[in-house]
Amino acid sequence: MSRTFSYQGSAAHIVFGEGRSQTAGEWIEKLGCSRALVLSTPHQKADAEGVAARLGPLSAGVFAGAVMHTPVEVTEAAMEVVRRSGADCVVSLGGGSTTGLGKAIAYRTDLPQVVIPTTYAGSEVTSILGQTEGGRKTTVKDARILPEVVIYDAALTTGLPVGLSVTSGLNAMAHAMEALYAQDRNPISSLMAVEGLRAFQSALPAIVATPGDLAVRADGLYGAWLCGTVLGTVGMALHHKICHTLGGTFDTPHAETHAIMLPHTASFNAVAVPELLAPVAEIFGGSVGGGLWDFAKSIGAPMALQHLGLTEADLDRASQIAVENPYWNPRPIDKRSIRELLQHAWEGNRPT
Ligand code: NAD
Repeated sequence: MSRTFSYQGSAAHIVFGEGRSQTAGEWIEKLGCSRALVLSTPHQKADAEGVAARLGPLSAGVFAGAVMHTPVEVTEAAMEVVRRSGADCVVSLGGGSTTGLGKAIAYRTDLPQVVIPTTYAGSEVTSILGQTEGGRKTTVKDARILPEVVIYDAALTTGLPVGLSVTSGLNAMAHAMEALYAQDRNPISSLMAVEGLRAFQSALPAIVATPGDLAVRADGLYGAWLCGTVLGTVGMALHHKICHTLGGTFDTPHAETHAIMLPHTASFNAVAVPELLAPVAEIFGGSVGGGLWDFAKSIGAPMALQHLGLTEADLDRASQIAVENPYWNPRPIDKRSIRELLQHAWEGNRPT
C-alpha cells in the first residue's frame, strides 16, 4: 500500500447532537454576526419560520424559495432579500437544494453560513456549488462556498419521508464508494468512507422500520457527515459523471438516480480495483455490485432507470455524453461499455 498522500482537514465546524439546532443563535454570534436570513424550500417553510422565531432578534427573516439545482434566478431573488433585510449571514435549513442556495449567496457575498441539514446528501460539508442558468448546469469550487458551521440535529430529520431517506442515503453512499478508489484518496478519507458505508448499512434498514426513532436518524446523519466529507475532499469518477449526465440532460431526480446507478457503477469499477472496493463487499456481503443491489432492494429503493421516465433511446445519448470530457476513472471506459452498463441499470438487473 502506497504511503504517499496529502491531507488537509476541513475548516468547517461540525456540531452534532439531538436538539443542537437550538444553539444556532450562539453560533451566529460566534461568527460575529447578528442578522441571519433563514433559507428553506417552500415545503419546509414552517420549520424555517420556527428556526427564525427561536433566533428572535438574530433573525433577519425567512426566504423559503429554494429549489433543486440552484437556478440563478432564485439566487438573484434571494440576494435581493439579503440586501433589503441587511442580513449578515444565512442559516440554511434543509437538504442539498437549500444548502445550494446558501452556498450560492456565500459565493457572491462571502456571508458566513450555518447549515442545519435535513437530508443525507452531504452538500453542507463541501466547497462545491452546482448552479443552473438557462437550463445549463455549471459547477464551481471555492473556499467561500464551504459552510462555516454545520449543525446535525436528528430531531429535524424524523419527518424526512422513508422513500427520500432511502434514496438520499444511497446518494451519500455513492460518495463513499467513489472515494475508496479516488486518485487523491488519503488514509483519513478512506477511513471515513468505510465508516460512512457501515453507518448507512445499519441505519437505513432501521430508518425504514422505525423512521421516528431519533437514535437511528442520528446514525443516518453520522453517515451523511462522513460521506459528504469525503465528497468534499477527494475527486469523484464514473458514477458521479453518469449521474450528472442523467440529471443534467434528462432531468432525472438527483437522489433516485444515484440510488439506481450505485450497484452498477460499483460493479463496473470493482473489476479494476477489487482490493480497494473489498470493504464494500465485506460490509454488504457477497460481490460489490450484487451486495449493494441486494441491500438497495431490501430497503425498498427504486431499482430501474426506466421508472424515472428515461427511454432506451435516451441511453444512447447518455452514454455518448458520459464519455465526452470523462472524469478520471479506475477502469477505462468507452461508449459501448457505458451503454451496456446503462442498459442493465435501465432494466434494473442485478449486477454480478
Ligand atoms: P432536496 O434538498 O431537494 O430535498 C428534497 C425535498 O425534501 C425538498 O422538498 C425538501 O424540502 C424536502 N425535505 C428535506 N428534508 C426534509 C425533512 N427532514 N422532512 C421533510 N421534508 C424534507 O434534496 P437533496 O437530495 O438533499 O439535494 C439535492 C440537491 O443537492 C441537488 O441539486 C444536488 O445537485 C445537490 N447536491 C450538491 C452537493 C454539493 O456538494 N454541491 C452534494 C450533494 C447534493
